[in-house]
Amino acid sequence: MKKKIAIIGSGIAGLTLANFLYKYKKHDFMVYEKNETLPLDEGYGIQISNNGIKILNEINFSKIGDEKIYHPRGIDIYNIQNNKICDLDLTQFNAIGSKYTTLQRSTLIEFLKDNIYTQHLRFGKRIREVSELKNKILIKFDDNTNDLVDFVIGADGIFSNTRTFFEKKKNKPIFKNAIAIRTILKPFPELDIDQSKISLMMGRNCHLVFYPINKKKELNLVCIVRHKKYDPGNIEILIEKVVKQNQNLKKIFEKDLKSFPLYANSKILPSTNSKVFYIGDAFNGILPTLAQGAGQSIESAFELFNLIKDDKENKQNIYFQQRSKRAKIVRRRTNFNFLIFHFSSKFMQRIRNFFMKSLIKRKSFINSYLGTVYKN
Ligand SMILES: Cc1cc2nc3c(=O)[nH]c(=O)nc-3n(C[C@H](O)[C@H](O)[C@H](O)COP(=O)(O)OP(=O)(O)OC[C@H]3O[C@@H](n4cnc5c(N)ncnc54)[C@H](O)[C@@H]3O)c2cc1C
Repeated sequence: MKKKIAIIGSGIAGLTLANFLYKYKKHDFMVYEKNETLPLDEGYGIQISNNGIKILNEINFSKIGDEKIYHPRGIDIYNIQNNKICDLDLTQFNAIGSKYTTLQRSTLIEFLKDNIYTQHLRFGKRIREVSELKNKILIKFDDNTNDLVDFVIGADGIFSNTRTFFEKKKNKPIFKNAIAIRTILKPFPELDIDQSKISLMMGRNCHLVFYPINKKKELNLVCIVRHKKYDPGNIEILIEKVVKQNQNLKKIFEKDLKSFPLYANSKILPSTNSKVFYIGDAFNGILPTLAQGAGQSIESAFELFNLIKDDKENKQNIYFQQRSKRAKIVRRRTNFNFLIFHFSSKFMQRIRNFFMKSLIKRKSFINSYLGTVYKN
C-alpha cells in the first residue's frame, strides 16, 4: 500500500518536497498551509546557488521563462562609500545547465505550486492535536478535519509549530539583534555599481546587497542593520544609521520598504519521533548572510525525498547525520560573514579588506569556503 505523507507548510522546502513526491508518484501526500493563499504577488528577490538549481532542474526548473530569471556573473564587494574592494567570479561554480540564479521569490513559488496546487495543497490548516494510532500519526486540524499518515514533515519555517507538537524540547529561535529592510529598485544610476552583478556593500554595523532579479534589470535590495530592538513602525532609525555613512544611499530607501527581524536557531535539534522529519528553516534557521536559506531548504527536501523513496531503514538517523553535517558547514560561514561584514572599527575593516582582497584570488581558499557550499 502507498505510504501517506503530510507536509506542514507550503514554503520553498515543503513545495520542493511535494514536487518530488508528485514526480515519482509512489506516495500519497498533502501539503497543509496555515495561510489562505500563497504569496504570489511578492516582488522580493532570492538568490539560489548551483547546489539548489541542480536539484530544481530535476523538477524542470528550466521551464521558467528566461526573462524571469537572471544569472549574475559575479559579486562586486565595496565599502559603504561605494569604493570597490574586490570581486568574485561566480561563473567558476557554474555547470552546464546549473548556474547561480537570482529571481523573484514569487516566480519560484509560482513554479513550485504548478503541479500540486489543485490536488495536493490545502489552505487554512493549523494542527490542533497529534496522536499515534496503529503505527501511524493522526493529525487533527483546527477546522475539525483530520488525516492519518505514515510520515509528518515539518516544513513550517523557523518558528515551526510542528516541533512544538512533537518535541519535548522546544526549538527557540534567537533574535540576532539585526533587521533586514527590503525593496525593489528600478535601474538605479545614482550608485556606481555594475547592475548586472551582485553588489555587496559593507558598512559599520550594516551591509547592503543589490542584485538583478530579471531581464528587466529590476534590482533587489536587502539592507541588514544591527539594532537591538525591532519596531516595524520606526525603521527610519535604521535607515539613518546607514545613510549617515553614505548620503548617496538616501534615495534607495524612498519607497515600498519592508522590514523583518532576523532570527536564527542556536542548535540543530533532531526529531525524537521516527515518523516526523523537519526540512528547511524548520530543521535549522540561519541568517541570510550567505544567501543559503532557500538552497538549504531545497537540499533538505531532496535528501529526505531520496530516503523516503528508497524506503531506507533508519531514515531518521541517516537524515539527521547527513543534514546536520551539511547545515553546520553552512551555518559557520553564514555566522562568519555576519561578523565580518559589519565591523565597526576602521582598523578591523582595513584588516578584513586586506584579507578579502588576497584570499578571493586564491582558488584553494574560494573552493573550500564557497565551493563546498555551492557545488555540494
Ligand atoms: C531578508 C532575507 C533575505 C533572504 N535571502 C535569501 C536568499 O537570497 N537566498 C536564500 O537561499 N535564502 C534567503 N533567505 C532565507 C530563505 O528565505 C528561507 O531560508 C527559506 O524561505 C525557508 O523556506 P522554508 O520553506 O523552510 O520556510 P518558510 O519560507 O518560512 O515557509 C514556511 C511555510 O509554512 C507555513 N506555516 C507556518 N506555520 C505553519 C503552521 N503552523 N501550519 C501550517 N503551515 C504553517 C508558512 O505560512 C509558510 O508558508 C532570506 C531570508 C531573509 C529573512
